[in-house]
Amino acid sequence: MGEMFTLGKELPGALGRTGTISTPHGEIRTPAFVPVATRATVKAVLPEAMSDLGAQAVLANAYHLYLQPGADIVDEAGGLGSFMNWRGPTFTDSGGFQVLSLGAGFRKTLSMDSHSVQADDVIAEGKDRLATVDDDGVTFKSHLDGSMHRFTPEVSMQIQHQLGADITFAFDELTTLMNSYEYQASSLARTQAWAERCLVEHRRLSALRSDKPPQALFGVVQGAQHEDLRRAAARGLADLELDGSGFDGYGIGGAIEKESLGTIVGWVCEELEVDKPRHLLGISEPDDLFTAVENGCDTFDCVSPSRVARSSRVYAMTGRYNLLVAASRRDFGPIDPDCDCYTCANYSKAYLHHLFKTKEYLAATLCTIHNERFTVRLVDDMRQHLEDGTFADFRDEFLARFYGA
Ligand SMILES: [Zn+2]
Repeated sequence: MGEMFTLGKELPGALGRTGTISTPHGEIRTPAFVPVATRATVKAVLPEAMSDLGAQAVLANAYHLYLQPGADIVDEAGGLGSFMNWRGPTFTDSGGFQVLSLGAGFRKTLSMDSHSVQADDVIAEGKDRLATVDDDGVTFKSHLDGSMHRFTPEVSMQIQHQLGADITFAFDELTTLMNSYEYQASSLARTQAWAERCLVEHRRLSALRSDKPPQALFGVVQGAQHEDLRRAAARGLADLELDGSGFDGYGIGGAIEKESLGTIVGWVCEELEVDKPRHLLGISEPDDLFTAVENGCDTFDCVSPSRVARSSRVYAMTGRYNLLVAASRRDFGPIDPDCDCYTCANYSKAYLHHLFKTKEYLAATLCTIHNERFTVRLVDDMRQHLEDGTFADFRDEFLARFYGA
């Protein structure tokens, strides 16, 4: 692919910036929040509603779609966007995170405590190890039916080409903060070798399937909490070229503790070319979004807004709260008086409280619409304040209100 990113305005004295990512299915104005459509659906919400609430793109998971319905079926449907009736840009991740996190029983690394344990073979308590890594790839057991499967860099690219998303990611090894420095270093060498194999396979498949819309490939920067490893990983991927061009952009993945998010993202973004987009894989809360934007990330995906919505937790300018609390029972106001979403325009907290109490499906739909709108709009506002030169004031004001600091 040619250059897909146009740099806009830069944040003085920091790495944050605005820009535009161009894809065959439209543009993404960045920074932008990318809602997660794990199994080719944002759970409980129509694609039209996602579009109406301002989502510019969605991200689906290669691992889940490979297991069900199978990447070949999505291919026959005309690719991910056609299959799920989403007309805008799409992303798929490589499956690396899922095969290893579901396999080893780890949850997302942001919540990890690196001080508690240091061991390379540790797995979550009470779980069998369902994935094993070797230099060629990962063998894992399906979480659906226990059948055995194998992903290599080539297999991941083949799946992602069949899924047909506009933006794809190189297959990488997920490590955890519990792995030793030595393991992180050897894992990084493996991820770098896999990145090169992904690029080769991606180019081969792009030529073979030249009748399909061109897909972009992002290299994924690992390296956990170590500055030398993170910087070397970013440089290694940025230097990688095949026939005169390299990755179209980058993903920043792996083990990151919340308090070091900004520092680590900053190391990586300092090493990467300014004219290529950077996606931070899987973060969670509003303060993380500010940190990531300020330190140079352009797009972010996160399951949190929809996941917490399904358990009655909603975002408001004054913080996150649970609609099931008794105070909502007779409150006929909206979830958040400052919100412009469909749910807040038409439904009361009392009604939503009732829907959750009676376990009605509509509860999940309405609250997901609100939480996704809240998050999309928050990042849109960050973009506007970057353009206006008022980002720091906006950040301080928002965080003070939201966290009550
Ligand atoms: Zn709302």
